[in-house]
Amino acid sequence: MSDYFNDIHQQARLSARKFIETHVRPYIDEWEEAGEFPREIYLKAGEAGLLGVGFPEALGGTGEGDIFLKVAVSEELMRSTSGGFVASMGSLDIGLPPVAKWARKEVREEIVPPVLRGEKIAALAITEPGGGSDVASLKTRAVRDGDHYVVNGNKIFITSGIRADHYTVAVRTGGEGHGGISLLLIDRDTPGFSTGKKLKKMGWW
Ligand SMILES: Cc1cc2nc3c(=O)[nH]c(=O)nc-3n(C[C@H](O)[C@H](O)[C@H](O)COP(=O)(O)OP(=O)(O)OC[C@H]3O[C@@H](n4cnc5c(N)ncnc54)[C@H](O)[C@@H]3O)c2cc1C
Repeated sequence: MSDYFNDIHQQARLSARKFIETHVRPYIDEWEEAGEFPREIYLKAGEAGLLGVGFPEALGGTGEGDIFLKVAVSEELMRSTSGGFVASMGSLDIGLPPVAKWARKEVREEIVPPVLRGEKIAALAITEPGGGSDVASLKTRAVRDGDHYVVNGNKIFITSGIRADHYTVAVRTGGEGHGGISLLLIDRDTPGFSTGKKLKKMGWW
């Protein structure tokens, strides 16, 4: 035990370690070669309680505010030896917080719990082929048309981009600069939505 990690953190650490040793470590070299892993692994991670760390209990998470719980679980996930695998598991940690915090109640209750159970996959889509650092200049445009938006643009380098079900997408709904940017939640089955070919990258899925 340390000044930072308590018994609950230790239990979570052991669950994460068991998950990695049982379901990931035996296959990770094969998955690295293939550049892909079975989708069912999200379900297994969800069953082990590893996906909901830091999310509100009301939405199926462990509760907010315990950063060392996240640290303990993250340290164990890295025993997979694959940063790409851990990032893919964790794309929900960047895609889902805006939904959990700012979406309408019925939307967050519909979207967040299935992702934390590993049944659905969430991603955050900000970067565009024209640039990533300068978010304030993003070009993807969303125009309101009745009760929906028409979105035109491209995103690139999106972690879990090929396999996600829900995308939190940064779009321009207003004028130039950061003040004109909004986040839209776009589902994979939205008419007109498509994913491109999977890029060959070093160790990142
Ligand atoms: C492993 C990985 C996972 C990623 N996952 C996601 C994801 O899930 N979702 C997502 O939206 N994006 C994701 N990205 C994209 C990432 O956010 C962008 O790569 C990053 O923002 C940089 O953008 P860029 O690659 O277009 O480089 P650029 O923005 O074109 O920058 C290129 C170079 O120019 C420098 N530069 C840029 N602007 C300035 C400036 N004003 N002054 C001085 N130097 C400058 C940068 O430091 C860099 O060295 C991921 C990237 C990687 C590598």
